[in-house]
Amino acid sequence: MQDIINKLINALGPNKVLTDDENLSRYARDFWPLLMMREQVLHEKIPKPLAVVVPGSVNDISLTLRIMNEYGGGIPIVVYGGGSSVTGASMGSGSIIIDITRLNKVLNIDTYDLTITVEAGAKLRDVEAELNSMGFSLRHIPQSFNYATIGGLIATMSSGQYSTLYGNVEDAILNLEVVLPTGEVIWLRRNTVPRASTGPSLKYLFVGSEGMLGIITKAVLRIVPLPKSTRYGSFTFNALNDGIKVLRELMTRRLVPAVARLYDEYESSIRFGIAKPTLIISFEGYYDNIIDAMWNEARRVIEDYGGEYAGEDYFENWLSSRFNVEEEIDRVKKLGLWFDTIEVAGTWSRLPQIYAGFRDALMRVEGVVAIMAHISHLYLNGACIYFTVLFKPIIETYWKLWDAAMNAVLVNGGSISHHHGIGMLRSKWVGKELGDAVKIVKLIKNALDPNSVMNTKSGMFFPDNL
Ligand SMILES: Cc1cc2nc3c(=O)[nH]c(=O)nc-3n(C[C@H](O)[C@H](O)[C@H](O)COP(=O)(O)OP(=O)(O)OC[C@H]3O[C@@H](n4cnc5c(N)ncnc54)[C@H](O)[C@@H]3O)c2cc1C
Repeated sequence: MQDIINKLINALGPNKVLTDDENLSRYARDFWPLLMMREQVLHEKIPKPLAVVVPGSVNDISLTLRIMNEYGGGIPIVVYGGGSSVTGASMGSGSIIIDITRLNKVLNIDTYDLTITVEAGAKLRDVEAELNSMGFSLRHIPQSFNYATIGGLIATMSSGQYSTLYGNVEDAILNLEVVLPTGEVIWLRRNTVPRASTGPSLKYLFVGSEGMLGIITKAVLRIVPLPKSTRYGSFTFNALNDGIKVLRELMTRRLVPAVARLYDEYESSIRFGIAKPTLIISFEGYYDNIIDAMWNEARRVIEDYGGEYAGEDYFENWLSSRFNVEEEIDRVKKLGLWFDTIEVAGTWSRLPQIYAGFRDALMRVEGVVAIMAHISHLYLNGACIYFTVLFKPIIETYWKLWDAAMNAVLVNGGSISHHHGIGMLRSKWVGKELGDAVKIVKLIKNALDPNSVMNTKSGMFFPDNL
């Protein structure tokens, strides 16, 4: 193994291949709550990667992959962007990490065609700041805004807080440059167009590929002018299902909100101090009269279903606290508990069953202390339910609650992940959701990565799953 590290050092130079303990420890884990619990609560040492490559160019990445192919596989390569995966997708132990964050330049912003061309290691926060200074935005704002990179967002099929109006990350992608596992560098298209039907959509191979099919090095994304007009507020309901009906009705009537988050009574209690299902909702656009009209129509729909107006404070409370991740974790730790978040998806007719089935199943797991949820990311056909589970920090409890959760979602016709992806966490349940289609992915993986060099420890290629 030392011989391959020496080869990389010889080819790239010692500054681009890190092997010191401090650096290796930094890349040992991502934000997977199981690894954080093992490290921070159970005081275990998370095994480190073998080396960290920090390429300065696409050429360096290509060279690294060519060398790994010559070596013939066996040591997985894990691409590392912001390291904010919550599923172990960027967990580095036993791997060679490629940290692509030095490739972080904004290459072009075209305010006429509304596109940005950016290197994939750029942090979303920095890209957004540059766009905002020119009056534009990606309007893709996940809670991991301060950590995530453009490439990581694409590779995990991310969803932002404004996805209901602007779509998910896949809807923003116009073109990608990728380094294939064999080291070849390819743009998926030779031109930038709003849409094309020239063959199967190759971008979707890389959307959600979690570093298993290649390394995304550049992206051309669509941008939007910053909205100029916003209305927001909140409503309470007597029953969660009334709120779900409201969300469906709004989407059906094309009264599409920018943000809509319907909290169950448990999450409302903790977040806002009211033990009633609470909807916070906003509309945004470019003309006050249009946004006012949408707000007024939406309010009528919400009140028809028994929603009671509860003012603007709850929305503002969410807006100002939405990135306070570390404080929330600290609060849970002080209670002697640990947490995970489980975001699933279903059609409107199934959401109530998924919600109830999930709660029933998890309440029966010993060690689970609290379950709360909100519904967000709306579509014409359904939405995402985002559960937060608090439990006693015991590894056995962790896997039991995940098993109960995944089975409850599958049995009720939902998807086991709306936007966090598979990683090492969900790999054993993916086959249950996709069925025979897993074979197609395996064929594609073998064709693109014949020596199996890329992220073979996680995702649907994790050996248990084949
Ligand atoms: C506090 C917190 C809040 C979050 N909120 C949201 C949210 O609101 N919405 C949401 O969708 N997700 C959310 N996430 C999870 C989400 O997966 C990540 O935030 C983000 O999408 C990953 O970006 P990253 O750059 O950190 O990727 P990493 O964690 O570095 O990598 C994630 C996966 O993508 C691969 N990868 C990374 N870069 C590339 C590349 N250039 N080419 C190929 N593969 C690559 C990695 O190998 C790994 O498999 C949250 C995570 C945290 C910690």
